[in-house]
Amino acid sequence: MTLGAYIQVPFCQSKCTYCNFHTGVVARERYQPYAEAVCREIAASVSGGAPVVDTVYVGGGTPSLLDPAALAHILDALRAAYRVEAEEITLEADPETVTPAKAAAWRAAGFDRVSLGAQSFHDTELRAAGRMHRREDIFAAVDLLRTAGFRNTSLDLIAGLPHQTPKSWEESVSQLLRIYPEHVSIYLMEIDEGSRLGREALEGGQRYSAGALPSDDAMADFYESACRRLAEAGYEHYEISNWALPGRRSRHNLKYWRRDPYLGLGAGAHSFDGSVRWANVHDAARYVRILEQGSSPREQFDPLTPLQALQEELFLGLRQIEGIDFGRIERQYAELGDRLAQLHERIERLRAQGLLQTEGTCLRLAPNKLTVSNEALVELLG
Ligand code: SF4
Repeated sequence: MTLGAYIQVPFCQSKCTYCNFHTGVVARERYQPYAEAVCREIAASVSGGAPVVDTVYVGGGTPSLLDPAALAHILDALRAAYRVEAEEITLEADPETVTPAKAAAWRAAGFDRVSLGAQSFHDTELRAAGRMHRREDIFAAVDLLRTAGFRNTSLDLIAGLPHQTPKSWEESVSQLLRIYPEHVSIYLMEIDEGSRLGREALEGGQRYSAGALPSDDAMADFYESACRRLAEAGYEHYEISNWALPGRRSRHNLKYWRRDPYLGLGAGAHSFDGSVRWANVHDAARYVRILEQGSSPREQFDPLTPLQALQEELFLGLRQIEGIDFGRIERQYAELGDRLAQLHERIERLRAQGLLQTEGTCLRLAPNKLTVSNEALVELLG
């Protein structure tokens, strides 16, 4: 059994208005003790034998803010504790943090993939969202990464940023295609209580350019247009929010949707061993203190019941465009007879509504209804 390793770095230079992640802006002096705490956690996390780690993902937050030596130290700690036979070692980076020295040091440390938070190619949109980078920083960052030898880069865009228009969206997609990264993620703006922008929009206020948010229909059009253009450009749409050139799907992220085991290290990181989910303490300062005391940061152990596991198979698995093998699920969860019968009825109903498709034992979301996938999944799970 192989393992994915996720390392969380919960620090950012500033807080984006739309951010609903548990990350913070802290003094730079706190970066190094944090990196040391992660190394301690890695060393203490192995129990009995050294499992094989085949994907590593350092995310955040903005892990590219850390000193490259600290990131190298974290990868070295992983190699010391586990058999790292990684097919993919990803670092998340913000464009303005990439320098020639950092890009070279990341390569030398063993990173072979960088995921860049581009979000938009329009300075008005970037500024309103509280991003630190500007359009030119994205081109400069990609050039630096390619010069340093990175041959696997992912770019993120957000559909639904304040001030985004059909024209500006098409232009952002065009600029992304000019760069032609190996991998693309497109996220739909989430309006919820978890972010400053979300709260403002829900209260009907104007701060954070909440009044300039595109409508839900416009956002759905942006997404569908991107689906078309990325397909024309040769990208495979393999997950609701993710596209890749052939052979470039994110191996690490596939583990989440396939429910393969992964170990989360760092403050707030989540883990899954195939039957139990758990999370580390969220607060970064508390996380460092706990590790300095030689204790475990793990909490919130959640052993999954068969029903919860079945629900995960559906809401995680169906995010993959190719769908899931429902025949395998029926065999694996045969003990939930009544629930499976109920599921059959719901699948039939959603199929009749054109939201789900079946082909043999394969079950998938209808490709032309991905913008309403949440509604379909909610109805399926009841
Ligand atoms: S860079 Fe990412 S994690 Fe940091 S504040 Fe912005 S959206 Fe949140």
